[in-house]
Amino acid sequence: MSADPVNILEEAPRQIPIVDCPDVLVVGGGSAGLAAAVAAARSGADTVLMERYGYLGGLATGGMVILLLSLDDGAGTQVIAGLCQELVERLERRNAAIYPAKGEWGSDDPALIEHYRKWGLIWGGVPDRVRYSVAYEPAEFKFIGDQMVVEAGVRLRLHSWATDLVLDGGRISHVICQSKSGRQAIQPKVVIDATGDGDLLPWAGLPHETAKVHVYRWYRMANVEAPEQAIEAAKDKFFPTLGGRFFHTPGENRTLMPWGMSDHIDRRIDPTSVEDLTYAEVESRRLMMEQIDRLQSEVPGFANAYLADAADQLGITETRRLVGDYVLAADDDQRSFDDAIAVTGHWTRYGARYQIPFRALRHGAVTNLLVSGRCISVDRRVHNATKEIPACMATGQAAGTAASLAAAGNGDITAVDVDELRGALLKAGAILTA
Ligand SMILES: Cc1cc2nc3c(=O)[nH]c(=O)nc-3n(C[C@H](O)[C@H](O)[C@H](O)COP(=O)(O)OP(=O)(O)OC[C@H]3O[C@@H](n4cnc5c(N)ncnc54)[C@H](O)[C@@H]3O)c2cc1C
Repeated sequence: MSADPVNILEEAPRQIPIVDCPDVLVVGGGSAGLAAAVAAARSGADTVLMERYGYLGGLATGGMVILLLSLDDGAGTQVIAGLCQELVERLERRNAAIYPAKGEWGSDDPALIEHYRKWGLIWGGVPDRVRYSVAYEPAEFKFIGDQMVVEAGVRLRLHSWATDLVLDGGRISHVICQSKSGRQAIQPKVVIDATGDGDLLPWAGLPHETAKVHVYRWYRMANVEAPEQAIEAAKDKFFPTLGGRFFHTPGENRTLMPWGMSDHIDRRIDPTSVEDLTYAEVESRRLMMEQIDRLQSEVPGFANAYLADAADQLGITETRRLVGDYVLAADDDQRSFDDAIAVTGHWTRYGARYQIPFRALRHGAVTNLLVSGRCISVDRRVHNATKEIPACMATGQAAGTAASLAAAGNGDITAVDVDELRGALLKAGAILTA
């Protein structure tokens, strides 16, 4: 909870240098922002990607959430391709991805299911199926992200934190950012909010929903002796009734510890509150270390294991979600939309298919802003599906492509020809109607 200000400081007007005037500005370089920027630039837009940290990927790298769940619908059919599929292929070429072969997707073979469950690639309930999900190495994702933006000609601005924007009528004229270089402004034609937290929504005065969440800190252990047995023993110790939450991960004798702790921290936090975030950072690190101490002293196989790396971004599932021109709801499962720009399955439900309409990425009140990733306009239950990394990349790719089309005109995203947008996405390998 934020403390009430004890006093108010009135800021004097000041001059801010305008350091760039791109067609498209993508704010946030997580999986959605990466896809948005690459798609915009490949579609011909002069594109800037602004990211507050020193690397790309967001939760998919710095959050150590290193499982793509999932690119299929749980019934054996691939529903997400495009830039996410390209990422998988690039990871594979660098020996940094593990996933079931195409012929195995949808299989109910118990041996296969047991095998891939140990990699964290199957999460549904009985009867289980093999999913098209991918375990990967986060350092390689960061590197591939760099390569993809450089090859596409995106101008990358790392270590730049968007802090505000200027509205001119119903459009954003400038986005303000803060960095070691001071306070600067960017003057884009079209803006994409890919901050995950939906930071631009309150600044733009757009309606949004907020959430308080339990946070997690994922980590990896190295030098685990006989990981297969060690994971089983750890599971019995920490999760006797939950079926296990520790996984194999790329790299010899390493394990992925997704929840970071056997229990949640004691309360939900507001991910926009500095006080709550500070509490969650310190408390989740304490609990993670407590768990590691227990693993080392109590669980065979972990005696000589050590912390390889811990997420440097807190695992925050949701913060703000736009209430846009369409709010995708749970009963939209299997529904077709004329303006579908992506499809996603559901990581725990077999056969679910949500087409995502273009209207879920925008709100008509601000004509040059799109959202992508975990802050798009969906209800809480659908958010559980659209927040997953492959779906974030799919909505990012759609937002970037749409932004490029809008920027070729006057920047008005409500004027984008949806058939042209869908045609461009299909040409780029996206799946829209599975
Ligand atoms: C505990 C947990 C477990 C999960 N498990 C899975 C899983 O197994 N598989 C799966 O596919 N998905 C999983 N997810 C969901 C998935 O990881 C995220 O929803 C997804 O990565 C979000 O991508 P994004 O690009 O929308 O946002 P983010 O990854 O949050 O990226 C946002 C980016 O914007 C930057 N940013 C934020 N604010 C600003 C600002 N003001 N200025 C500049 N930059 C800014 C951030 O630094 C970050 O790089 C999980 C999530 C959590 C929290």
